[in-house]
Amino acid sequence: MDKLAVIVPCYNEEEVLKIASETLRGVIEDLIRKEKIAEDSFILFVNDGSKDRTWELIEEEHKAYPVRVKGVKLAANVGHQFALTAGLVTAKEMCDVTVSIDADLQDDVAVIEEMIDKFHAGNDIVYGVRKERKTDTFFKRTTAQAFYKLMNIMGVKTVYNHADFRLMSKRAVEEFSKYQETNLFLRGMMPLIGYQTDCVYYDRKERVAGESKYPLRKMLALAFNGISSFSVKPISLIMGLGLFIMLAAVLAAVYAFVSYFTGHVVQGWTSMILSIWFLGGLQLLAIGLVGQYIGKIYIEVKHRPRYNIEKVI
Ligand code: UDP
Ligand code: MG
Repeated sequence: MDKLAVIVPCYNEEEVLKIASETLRGVIEDLIRKEKIAEDSFILFVNDGSKDRTWELIEEEHKAYPVRVKGVKLAANVGHQFALTAGLVTAKEMCDVTVSIDADLQDDVAVIEEMIDKFHAGNDIVYGVRKERKTDTFFKRTTAQAFYKLMNIMGVKTVYNHADFRLMSKRAVEEFSKYQETNLFLRGMMPLIGYQTDCVYYDRKERVAGESKYPLRKMLALAFNGISSFSVKPISLIMGLGLFIMLAAVLAAVYAFVSYFTGHVVQGWTSMILSIWFLGGLQLLAIGLVGQYIGKIYIEVKHRPRYNIEKVI
């Protein structure tokens, strides 16, 4: 029987922790009863440097349910993506399959069973995908949609409307932990791992209690991090722009010479206009070119695994 670890990153979640623990314990007990997971499956709370009583509550839960509830305390707040990574990497030594979920239970715990079924059907990663965003505010909904679109244009492959509610098998987590990069954007990294994947669909609910730990500032940072960690396309765009302006310089030259020979220009105008267009374009092009090399260096220093061998026969 496969041992499940449910990974829950928590930052200042004292209001929801007990509810989250109770709900998730219920889900685990149910799955054990249905003989889908091992008896000693557990929840792993990762306290991400909370300033409130979150860690004390985790300790209490662990005392009350030593097998079912475990905890990892990070020494300081490092953000959701790192907290989740810490949880996954810690859990992979102790389990066969992981499910990551937010502490606020906005994601539907009912589909965890479906995730496990899909795991048993041979999938290594199962993405939880939101059906609609009815409960999100108009602002959160539109910004989030714009974010997925932008990611797509910039060439970052992500699963649409999937956040970090997902199942990962032990070997998927192991492969993931070979990605040593510091600029983490988990959603973008999952498709790089490979293996067979599937999705489950659910309605995202409102937070059980407390308020969002992801203000606009953190959302923008995540978006920019996502693009800049996965794509050197912005550099290519600059280079393209440089080329375009160089071409425009040719047109500007024709225009300037025609104006010059038809004779209604001020002294010095022709040479000035030509320099501005030509040098401007040349500079952008040169910056773009230098950028291309920096982009290559950037990709090299990430030291990402170049392939993942699944099987040899
Ligand atoms: N979180 C974290 N560290 C942080 C911020 C958030 O571990 O610095 C956790 C938080 O406790 C929650 C999850 O990340 O379990 C998602 O945060 P939240 O629900 O506030 O984001 P939202 O759903 O509003 O996007
Ligand atoms: Mg939330």
